[in-house]
Amino acid sequence: AAGGCAPSSPRRRLTVLSGPSGVGKSTVVTEIRRSHPEVWLSVSVTTRPPRPGEKHGVQYFFVDDAGFDRLVADGELLEWAEFAGNRYGTPRAPVAEKLAAGVPVLLEIDLQGARQVRRAMPDALLVFLAPPSWDELVRRLVGRGTEPPEVIERRLEAARVELAAEKEFDVTLVNTSVQDVCRELLALMVDQTSD
Ligand code: 5GP
Repeated sequence: AAGGCAPSSPRRRLTVLSGPSGVGKSTVVTEIRRSHPEVWLSVSVTTRPPRPGEKHGVQYFFVDDAGFDRLVADGELLEWAEFAGNRYGTPRAPVAEKLAAGVPVLLEIDLQGARQVRRAMPDALLVFLAPPSWDELVRRLVGRGTEPPEVIERRLEAARVELAAEKEFDVTLVNTSVQDVCRELLALMVDQTSD
């Protein structure tokens, strides 16, 4: 029931979106960034070079190997993983600050990272984004056309392993359409409070 005073913001439950590379996670995240600015999207640190159009501080913070090593050594990352020859990690402090302030937080990370979040924050909601089919996933990985063949091959191999991880997640969303996935994901994030 609504009280007379402004309600204090309850601490938020962290939501993690994961799944095979090429399944469409970043498209979902781009759509949420556009349509739901109230959701705070964690900006990861990566040693991968920027793709055309990617901006430092928007899609990623781009750092060199030494910079990444420093963040790991200083305990600044909530989780980190190596994926297809590059390292990716989630800065810890901003996530904790936003959750404490009652802001809904979404992480888009790979499976290894999702497992680390599960251990570090057992009440996180882990959402697995599944492709409509394996053929569709291959088509998307190859069709992006931004990566050399050997990179695509490594990503396909990672995707085979990752598809088997679905059972470790709280919820599966099948990526039939970006709009449907965004709607379902936002519905899951509503009322995800810890108390
Ligand atoms: P891409 O290079 O295509 O942007 O991302 C490759 C993979 O790294 C994707 O599966 C993406 O979800 C994952 N990824 C992005 N940021 C992070 C992060 O901070 N931590 C982890 N563990 N994975 C990440």
